[in-house]
Amino acid sequence: MGRFDGRVAVVTGAARGIGFGTASRFAQEGASVAVLDLDEASAAQAAARLPVADGARAVGIGADVSSTESAEAAVERVVAELGGIHILVNNAGITRDNLLFKMTDDDWDLVMNVHLRGAFLMTRAAQKHFVAQRYGKILNLSSVSALGNRGQANYSAAKMGIQGLTRTLGIELGPFGVNANAIAPGFIATDMTDATAARLGIDVDEFRKMNAEANPVKRVGLPEDIAAAAAFLCSDEASYITGQTLYVDGGAKLG
Ligand code: NAP
Repeated sequence: MGRFDGRVAVVTGAARGIGFGTASRFAQEGASVAVLDLDEASAAQAAARLPVADGARAVGIGADVSSTESAEAAVERVVAELGGIHILVNNAGITRDNLLFKMTDDDWDLVMNVHLRGAFLMTRAAQKHFVAQRYGKILNLSSVSALGNRGQANYSAAKMGIQGLTRTLGIELGPFGVNANAIAPGFIATDMTDATAARLGIDVDEFRKMNAEANPVKRVGLPEDIAAAAAFLCSDEASYITGQTLYVDGGAKLG
């Protein structure tokens, strides 16, 4: 008996990284899972690798969360193919880091569109099902960078925006049996942080080591660390928690 037996979870940006780790955890605990990502073939390959429980299913769906038509069509496909929707994890993300004076309009717009507009569009599409069935769990990915990070004016603004969105969703949707929370990860070892290492001209292993040494718990985070917190916040055990942002960062921002 899993915590998510009979539930359908959608995880955006789940072809790899934190999204894939989170989708795997939902599948392990009994959910049917839709892996949503930009490229349908990559999404389908990831869905095929999920540890799906007996009686549950996994599908891969290609969609761009920053497009209204694409986000709405993706949610309707999930409902048609998996028989409903109960959990939405807004995880899709990109970075376009640069110091403010070098940041282009496109750097700003792209990051705001994928993170903030994407979370808005996916949530608006899913909430009509959640409200009608008086049940839903929304989890948004913020970041420790929401608190400010050199070279990330766009990403930091989007990730703090996610926290405001989450609080407002908690207020508006609480009366309809819908919980909305956010996780703000610290350094998690994924392609995204590997790309940061490459941009800074630092070897990936060296970059992870530096970040581990600077962290109070002396290691970097893994997708599984976020997945464990995501599963709790999207479970019925967390039904009295809403509008919150949980920092899962090994204490990185305590100093
Ligand atoms: P990742 O490995 O780069 O994976 C992100 C995924 O999102 C990719 O599969 C990417 O697809 C997909 N994606 C990008 N734009 C999309 C769009 N418009 N529509 C649908 N999917 C899209 O990133 P990650 O490190 O796992 O990060 C996941 C989330 O956690 C992000 O929101 C990130 O900001 C947040 N986060 C990460 C860290 C960290 O240290 N890694 C820390 C704090 C917060 P493509 O492969 O096709 O580009």
